[in-house]
Amino acid sequence: MSRMNIPQSSYPRVVIVGGGFGGIALAKKLSKKEAQVVLLDKHNYHNFQPLLYQVSTGGLEPDSIAYPIRKVLQGYPNFFFRLAQVQEVKTDTKRIKTNIGEIFFDYLVVATGSETNFFGNKGIESKGMAMKTIPQSLNLRSLILENFEQALLTDDLHERDALMNFVIVGGGPTGVELAGALAEIKKGILPKDYPDLDTRRAQINLVQSGDRILPAMSRQASEKAEKFLENLGVNVWKNIRVTDYDGQKVSTDSNTEFKAETLVWAAGVKAVCIKGLNAKELLCKGDRIKVNQYHQVIGVEDVFAIGDVAQMETDKFPHGHPMMAQPAIQQGRNLGDNLVRLMENKPMNPFVYKDKGSMATVGRNKAVVDMPKFRFQGVFAWFVWMFVHLYFLIGFRNRVVVFINWVYNYIRFDREARLIIRPFKKQNRVERDTLMQD
Ligand SMILES: Cc1cc2nc3c(=O)[nH]c(=O)nc-3n(C[C@H](O)[C@H](O)[C@H](O)COP(=O)(O)OP(=O)(O)OC[C@H]3O[C@@H](n4cnc5c(N)ncnc54)[C@H](O)[C@@H]3O)c2cc1C
Repeated sequence: MSRMNIPQSSYPRVVIVGGGFGGIALAKKLSKKEAQVVLLDKHNYHNFQPLLYQVSTGGLEPDSIAYPIRKVLQGYPNFFFRLAQVQEVKTDTKRIKTNIGEIFFDYLVVATGSETNFFGNKGIESKGMAMKTIPQSLNLRSLILENFEQALLTDDLHERDALMNFVIVGGGPTGVELAGALAEIKKGILPKDYPDLDTRRAQINLVQSGDRILPAMSRQASEKAEKFLENLGVNVWKNIRVTDYDGQKVSTDSNTEFKAETLVWAAGVKAVCIKGLNAKELLCKGDRIKVNQYHQVIGVEDVFAIGDVAQMETDKFPHGHPMMAQPAIQQGRNLGDNLVRLMENKPMNPFVYKDKGSMATVGRNKAVVDMPKFRFQGVFAWFVWMFVHLYFLIGFRNRVVVFINWVYNYIRFDREARLIIRPFKKQNRVERDTLMQD
């Protein structure tokens, strides 16, 4: 027995670090094979990140986008889950150090995903809000609601405006979806919840450093999404870079300055790299681990990486695959097949990414979809967006709950999860993350 109480097995041991999209897809592939699978994650749930913004804006309860990792692979005798934070990989002895002990691996798969990248800006990191985890989304939900409660109490117009203003930095899908949801709240919910507050003064600012929002999508999708946002009353600022934030004043590289108590940073991610695999020669831009077309970490035997943390450079994707759910899922499945082939001494299959397109929603009846062969926007795109998200959400109960919530919200123009369950105070992020165990 190892210190983690995992029994010895005659099967090779595959340790997967991370129960996100990639790790779960891989574990499912291996669950009925002749391998002992040990999945380690610092959370006991899978987080469906694409719907985090709906938790932040009271559209969904956090439980409906999280799913217990143990339940995903219930009933498979060779599958073991341990709630553990992986601290170091010792490639020479094939051991992993975690906060609950060490474990030996025959094959290691790193699927640790990515985290918010503040690019070293301490002001933004300590005073701004990130939205990468469920606790962070709940923090944001509390902050938004608390700010409106505060706005009611002040006679100072500047202070009140700052409490009701939002700056969302980053015009990718996360920024666009969050801005759209906030605009809908401003229009449909705030006037009813706060009849004694002039909520029309609330400003939602989406700031993008480039010349268009949704830069990874087609120009047509960018333009349409911008139009949707403007119709909802969002101020879209392009070619402006946010440079600092002191908790109230948002500085930029232009003459524009914002006063806002809420700044959401959705302008960058970097891979979550683990000590032992973080040597400079192993990493690419954004700390992603360089892998070959079989997901093998280049130069390290029996260690693989998939998903956001992995950078596989191909002719079609010279900077690696997009940091999205589909590449992670497809890589997990391909690696599952390859590990079985490897154990059977058969040659592995190179990974080929099947691009199924990308999409973003701006709000009710408003979405943009880019498929490999055609593009569409508007109501139909919105239904496609909802269908795809329901389909990929893990767990039947979650699908039902999310579907019912969406139908209810659609009919009632409402978002009932606007609850301050866990009050939030802006403070030094390091202190905060330690307290909340993000
Ligand atoms: C707000 C938001 C919206 C998004 N929207 C979309 C979208 O609409 N469409 C889309 O395709 N993609 C979207 N993405 C991106 C998508 O979620 C990621 O690309 C995807 O989750 C990557 O999968 P992964 O398996 O690589 O990592 P993840 O799903 O992030 O999983 C990583 C896992 O590793 C665990 N972990 C990390 N470090 C350790 C450690 N040291 N020890 C133990 N466990 C560890 C984490 O707890 C986590 O469970 C969005 C992301 C965000 C943040």
